[in-house]
Amino acid sequence: MLENVKKVDPDIYQALQNERDRQRNNLEMIASENFVSRAVLEVAGTVPTNKYAEGYPGRRYYGGCEHVDVMENLARERAVELFDADYVNVQPHSGSGANMAVYFALLQPGDTILGMDLSHGGHLTHGSPANFSGSLYEVHSYGVDRETERLDYEAVGGLAREVSPDMIVCGASAYPRTIDFARLREIADEVEAYLLADIAHIAGLVVAGLHPSSVPHAHFTTTTTHKTLRGPRGGMILSCDKELGKKADKAIFPGIQGGPLMHIIAAKAVCFQEALQPDFVQYQKEVVRNAESLADALGDCGFRLVSGGTDNHLMLVDLTSVGVTGKEAEERLDEVQITVNKNTIPFETKSPFVTSGIRIGTPALTSRGMGPDEMQKIAELMWRTLTADEDDQDTFAQVRGEVEKLCRAYPLYPDLK
Ligand SMILES: *Cc1c(COP(=O)(O)O)cnc(C)c1O
Repeated sequence: MLENVKKVDPDIYQALQNERDRQRNNLEMIASENFVSRAVLEVAGTVPTNKYAEGYPGRRYYGGCEHVDVMENLARERAVELFDADYVNVQPHSGSGANMAVYFALLQPGDTILGMDLSHGGHLTHGSPANFSGSLYEVHSYGVDRETERLDYEAVGGLAREVSPDMIVCGASAYPRTIDFARLREIADEVEAYLLADIAHIAGLVVAGLHPSSVPHAHFTTTTTHKTLRGPRGGMILSCDKELGKKADKAIFPGIQGGPLMHIIAAKAVCFQEALQPDFVQYQKEVVRNAESLADALGDCGFRLVSGGTDNHLMLVDLTSVGVTGKEAEERLDEVQITVNKNTIPFETKSPFVTSGIRIGTPALTSRGMGPDEMQKIAELMWRTLTADEDDQDTFAQVRGEVEKLCRAYPLYPDLK
């Protein structure tokens, strides 16, 4: 592998080798990351990267699209089967782009949206002032309840009646609990708003029936394909309403994108094929079981988890009582080769660059084959690392040794040279 890159560009070759080794030798616990199959990895580096295919299958603006049409049609057929939808667009380059297309399909600039607050677990594209969604629309935000640290649907309903949004955005990047999409649709109907459900994080769980699906409830469901779904980096739009779907198609192309990434769409098709197999359900069950085990073990060690635990693949650890910030924890865990991200917690008092928490997920480690015993072990390693003195190099070296042992026992892409 990579012998051509090695000749043409030794610097990039070296960086690629280093990144592969980093992925192999670290415990990847960023909740939005995963490891694709060898089949998906292969397809992502193939010749459709050369092909222009603006438009949709059978209606392209370029010749020579007969084979990429096969790829996109297979991706679409498999996606609608997987999510039990009537409409899909597999062309979004990213989850953010999928969301942007839905906004452009349904709203006018200046319209009102009601989205989940970023610091309570929402996403930038749900109305953050730093994002297009915050500058083009009038944004109101809902969050979690201070006591339960869970969504309070009564409060969301009250806010919706007060601000009469044109669209309600639900779904999250850092919310460890089940989301009641049916309830949110009732609220949307009551105030005559559209409902956009962004299931970027939980799509794999939804496919496996481990989280209720948003597809029958929301006007549009958007997702990434690279998180729990374990496909190539990209986005997708789903709906049960084909008429609305036509608007989303136009919003993607020619609205915000030009040529689709056909090699990535082919890789999405392969990911969906894998997700249709029974062992994918088993994988997702293991992701959730590992998250439960890890949350229990972290709690037993003495960490406080936001909302007291998890229903899905991720958890938020509030480090306030441990006496380190999210930023310090991320850096210190990096030193022992455990990769997490600092994350704001609900009612955060620190800046987003510092934060009081870290977000942890189990999809990637589960893809390596790790189970509850390893989760128990990892919780203890995290506790030792974060409660040690800042300059306790012995502890850090010991933990690093344990981490490397775990990584060797569950090799990543062992046949990839
Ligand atoms: C990750 C994520 C996205 C954005 O995906 P990108 O592909 O990084 O643009 C959108 N919404 C939610 C809820 C996410 O977690």
